[in-house]
Amino acid sequence: MRHYELVCPGCGTIHEDHYTLSCPQGCDALIRTRYQSKMLKLREEPGIFRFAEWLPVEGALKSPAGPVTYQSEGLARDLGLKNLYIGFNGYWPERDAQIHTCSFKELEALPTMVRVRETGEGTLVVASAGNTGRAFCQTAATTGEQVVVVVPGKAADRLWTTVETDQACIVLVDGDYSDTIAVADALCTHPSLLPEGGAKNVARRDGMGTVMLDAAVTIGRLPDRYFQAVGSGTGGIAAWEAAMRLVGDGRFGSALPRLHLVQNLPFVPMVRAWEAGRREIVPATDMPDARTAVAAVYADVLTNRKPPYGTRGGVFDALTATKGTMHAVTNPAAEAAARWCEEAEGIDLDPAAAVALAALADAVETGTVGPDETVLLNLTGGGYRRVAEEHEHYPIAPAFEVAADVETASLTRDVLSWVRDHA
Ligand SMILES: *Cc1c(COP(=O)(O)O)cnc(C)c1O
Ligand SMILES: [Zn+2]
Repeated sequence: MRHYELVCPGCGTIHEDHYTLSCPQGCDALIRTRYQSKMLKLREEPGIFRFAEWLPVEGALKSPAGPVTYQSEGLARDLGLKNLYIGFNGYWPERDAQIHTCSFKELEALPTMVRVRETGEGTLVVASAGNTGRAFCQTAATTGEQVVVVVPGKAADRLWTTVETDQACIVLVDGDYSDTIAVADALCTHPSLLPEGGAKNVARRDGMGTVMLDAAVTIGRLPDRYFQAVGSGTGGIAAWEAAMRLVGDGRFGSALPRLHLVQNLPFVPMVRAWEAGRREIVPATDMPDARTAVAAVYADVLTNRKPPYGTRGGVFDALTATKGTMHAVTNPAAEAAARWCEEAEGIDLDPAAAVALAALADAVETGTVGPDETVLLNLTGGGYRRVAEEHEHYPIAPAFEVAADVETASLTRDVLSWVRDHA
């Protein structure tokens, strides 16, 4: 018996985990984990596996990477907030932040690789705008397991690790993030190539949810507000799910943190749909000229065109349940926030993290967030400069470079023979 089961919020049925990504009854809903233990007990493990009780894994990996929460002084003073906590998810050894690939995607990759090993069969395939791919390459390097990573050509130089590996098969697609998703989906129609699952993957969501768990344990209570930049919104859904578990635990308060999820103008489909009060994203209205808009944003990891917004248990439900809201931030505001954070906190940010900070500044200025409220700002990535100073940097050369309309049957054969040759 595993220490959790899977529950569908659509039909309520319960399932055993076979790396299950969706409800076998066919519901349009994100299946969730339900853990036996309603009280969070921390394990004696380094990094994220401290929270293994509420992760869909039995085993653990010896990785120091995990969420870190600390009370801000610099930004808190500048913003006039008395209780600003930062969830820092990157590399910053002085604060014990040990995510070598510098984004919270490593919090998703670590439990996912363990979950695949325990419940799945086949080689994992991951589509990525860059950060997810790097995180999975690093995790593959740590575990020695194989992974196939499909990324847009533009992201080629984002694929590096701090531990050398020949177990990551990189497929570069001449196109944008949405094109890579299509190629990865096509590869996964082969039975021995396993789709990682994105937002549907409970290991990914519960991995990201540890940011909320770590904050609650550190602060001693749930925060009033949670700020995060989103592309798919998976991190926002994860924060909500983790908060519901913490409410169930009973020791951290009974009010769910209000979610403040942020996108980068001009590509803001979820902001538009939310402001129109719609559960559906209408492409013509919410993301006109998508390709141009995607190309124009500062933080391109935030440019998912098919986020799990309207699905049961998705972003719309998360915002509704937490009385949350969406924010839009311009490039200049985000760039200014990145510089400001370097001065005030002393760390370089991933562009997406700067987008979240810019939205918090807006919300304070307009009075949406009051000075006494407990705020959790998820800085989802950063510390690239620090990691470059202290660790090796191994770029990973692509195994295949293909056009967006590649003939996927032959690509599948090539990828499978790569997998055999490198086993
Ligand atoms: C992927 C990513 C995000 C967005 O995460 P989602 O919750 O999946 O939308 C934000 N920041 C960084 C640094 C990321 O890599
Ligand atoms: Zn169902």
